[in-house]
Amino acid sequence: MRLRPEIAALPAYRQGRPAPADGYKLSSNENPFPPLPGVAAAVAATANEINRYPDATALALREKLAERFDVSVDEVIVGAGSVSLLAQFIAAAAGPGDEVVYSWRSFEAYPGLVTVSGATSVQVSNRDDHGHDLDAMADAVTERTRVAIVCSPNNPTGMIVTADEFEAFMARVPDDVLVLLDEAYIEFVRTEPTGPGASVDGRRMLDRYSNLVILRTFSKAYGLAGLRVGYAIGPVPILDAARSTAIPLSVTAASAAAALASLEPEAERELLARVETIAGRRKALRAALLEQGWPVPEAHGNFVWLPTGDRTVEVAERLFDAGLVTRAFPPEGIRVSVGEPESVETLLRILGELVPASQ
Ligand code: PMP
Repeated sequence: MRLRPEIAALPAYRQGRPAPADGYKLSSNENPFPPLPGVAAAVAATANEINRYPDATALALREKLAERFDVSVDEVIVGAGSVSLLAQFIAAAAGPGDEVVYSWRSFEAYPGLVTVSGATSVQVSNRDDHGHDLDAMADAVTERTRVAIVCSPNNPTGMIVTADEFEAFMARVPDDVLVLLDEAYIEFVRTEPTGPGASVDGRRMLDRYSNLVILRTFSKAYGLAGLRVGYAIGPVPILDAARSTAIPLSVTAASAAAALASLEPEAERELLARVETIAGRRKALRAALLEQGWPVPEAHGNFVWLPTGDRTVEVAERLFDAGLVTRAFPPEGIRVSVGEPESVETLLRILGELVPASQ
């Protein structure tokens, strides 16, 4: 059997340890709140038709999203999580000999998706403040670049790209390079809507660029990680190409029904109130960590980044022993999701005992 050597060398996605009994899983940036009853009921109602294939393009959900974002239904694509859509877009635009530019460290899935497409990753180091270095990313674009990925808020460091930074970047990137703006955590952003610190909001950028696609998900703010549903909005020719690289029928009827039910006004109000709670909890957590002496960067997602350096494994083990499963990226740092209040208390207690000596 001959496998592609670059695939044989590619590690499979690993999910981290399960939480111990009475512990907390803070390793996947999940939503700590339980499903809404109305959403669970919408999923249950699909059980009567599981002998049938789902609607291949999730039309009802796309219509709802199109209305929401004031775009046409063909400018919306739905996938089995936004990670599937990332794979579809990368495969549509990049292949052997091509390059895909992205900031690093960023979402762990990017390198694998690029390798699977046959293209080559060009990773550009984050700035010292853990944000994207968009100037350096623009510098890294060559005639071989087919895709650039911008992640805001960035997983795992939590930093946003500002609207001004994004516009300056787009001005430097040739318009035959597909720019994927990954906004998996955008609902948690609380910057001012305008001004120098304002976060990029992909929807506001779409009308201006023919090479921009934004990606969002129901996994985080909407609490549907287990159902796998995400969406992207962008120009029809690019989305059509991504429809061609899709694995057919991968968005289930249950997933589409859950997403639709989550967009019902009453459900969405409750979901966004939960997001507000998490954003508040995040703000308090970061403030307490700074107070303890941890140099935590700005946190704009539903997680915080602890730059633990050489102590990453030691700190992650101490947290695990206290019942907290986190995501360690040795030797850089640890990403911790903002979860239940008790988990935040435990986190602060343990980290308070482990404050870096030099701080
Ligand atoms: N983008 C980023 C930045 C993420 O962190 C994640 C999930 N961790 C995804 C995309 C994919 O999310 P999903 O496939 O669940 O929509």
